[in-house]
Amino acid sequence: MTADLLLTNANVLTMDPARPRARSVAIASGRILAVGAGPDGPSGVQAREVADLRGATLLPGFHDAHNHMASYGLSLGEADLRSEVTPTLGDLYRAVAARAGATAPGDWVIGSGYDQNKLGAHPDRDGLDRAAPGRRVWLRHTSGHMCVVSSAVLADLGLADEPADVPGGKVVTDATGRPTGLLQEKAQALVAGLVLPYPVSVLADAIDRAGARYLSEGITSVTEAGIGGGWIGHTPVELAAYQAARDTGRLRVRVELMIASDALHPLAAHPGDGLELGLDLGIRTGFGDDWLRIGAMKIFTDGSLVGRTAAMHEDYQGTPGDRGYLQADAAELTATIIAAHRSGWQVAAHAIGDRAIDLVLDSYAQAQQRFPREDPRHRIEHFAVSRPDQVGRAARLGVIAVPQGRFATELGDGMLAAVGPGRHEWLYRQRSLLDAGLTLPGSSDRPVVTGAPLLGVHDMVNRRTAAGVPFNPAEAISAHEALRAYTSGSAYASHAESSRGMIAPGRLADLVVLSEDPTAVSPASIADITVLATFVDGECRFDISGSGQLT
Ligand SMILES: [Zn+2]
Repeated sequence: MTADLLLTNANVLTMDPARPRARSVAIASGRILAVGAGPDGPSGVQAREVADLRGATLLPGFHDAHNHMASYGLSLGEADLRSEVTPTLGDLYRAVAARAGATAPGDWVIGSGYDQNKLGAHPDRDGLDRAAPGRRVWLRHTSGHMCVVSSAVLADLGLADEPADVPGGKVVTDATGRPTGLLQEKAQALVAGLVLPYPVSVLADAIDRAGARYLSEGITSVTEAGIGGGWIGHTPVELAAYQAARDTGRLRVRVELMIASDALHPLAAHPGDGLELGLDLGIRTGFGDDWLRIGAMKIFTDGSLVGRTAAMHEDYQGTPGDRGYLQADAAELTATIIAAHRSGWQVAAHAIGDRAIDLVLDSYAQAQQRFPREDPRHRIEHFAVSRPDQVGRAARLGVIAVPQGRFATELGDGMLAAVGPGRHEWLYRQRSLLDAGLTLPGSSDRPVVTGAPLLGVHDMVNRRTAAGVPFNPAEAISAHEALRAYTSGSAYASHAESSRGMIAPGRLADLVVLSEDPTAVSPASIADITVLATFVDGECRFDISGSGQLT
């Protein structure tokens, strides 16, 4: 056997239960050819090129199972309002003023990443008007579930002095009934109506920028958690941006695209086909190839936990009577989920609060009862506040829960405050999901929080908030389990476990080389490990020296 490339002298964590550890890997035609127990290579394999990894750790490339790639790429060109960068409201307004000064007078001033839990309050229209007089300013909350706009934007929307009712959302007002600039959930679509659609070329540039960052963090594939509609979509032709990036050699990582539920529509198929709901031509989950493929239908059932809009059975702590809300009528959400299931879609339902999770579990159970389907692998994105009985029910239904490890550090304090001590043990489970037999993927929800997988793994193991408070520590998992989540777990959630997520013969040669073994260092130092190189399709697409030399 002749390999294109032989990686020798490596500490290989294969994620293959049949053979967890190895010392060398041979690659041919973009796939794993053979795995060797010895450091010099699998026996009987010749190679055109050999790279000595000098004891570095080799893993399957990381797959972020829930991220927002174009939004992240766009955010790299906007004002950065994360609390590390603008810790106070004063700093935030100064950053808005600076951004306004750096853009043409008629252009929008856009920023993202603020968190009122860290700032003490939401920014408001008056502050924005002082920072950038007369300008259209649009600041997105770190959760993505709300935003704040300036008076100029409110005027464009006819909301300068008058509030408005928006089903599934809120135009927040002060005590006198004057809008403050804060728009929650579906009210954000009003702003979107002014700025959308983005041009395909702008989105392709954003996809390129995001992909370059991903490779430097060891990410070789991602699931983009909703395109083409709703308040998260950028244009109804969003898939064209990914194709444009691919056509021009700028799709740097493999991408699975979830489709926003409102991009799906009734299909005029033969009634016997059962294809009620979908995209034109009957395109659905699974269409595409190893580089670009259609994933699940993404449906929002509720909002955000730190924003206190997620649908709960009991009140948020400290705000009696406030239990959040569903994003649409419960019967309507269930009907959409069942129709998508019947029409062959994998469904990925965003559900944060225990009330929303009940609604989704009920919908999946009904869907499967009425229209049984082999292995649909429906997902619940976030699965943030779950009772013990909901874990068991998700396991019985074969549902994949998709929590985000990094939320512990960056959003954990706000989440603990929102639910109160009585529900701390329900927050962002991992251990009890694995113990119940669920498959756990790894994901970030970037740009909601920092997306580097090693930070995610660090938090999945350490579970501490920014204030240093333990974040439901009983749900911590081992470094090996967290790495398995970011590799084989994520592959499974994408129906891709036969091609990805494991270093074994025949699998795609998507690999990451790390300076140290996350399972061997002290848990507190996992975040300090360096990504040395990243391979996609058997080719080195990132190396830390920038020289094209691996070591
Ligand atoms: Zn998301």
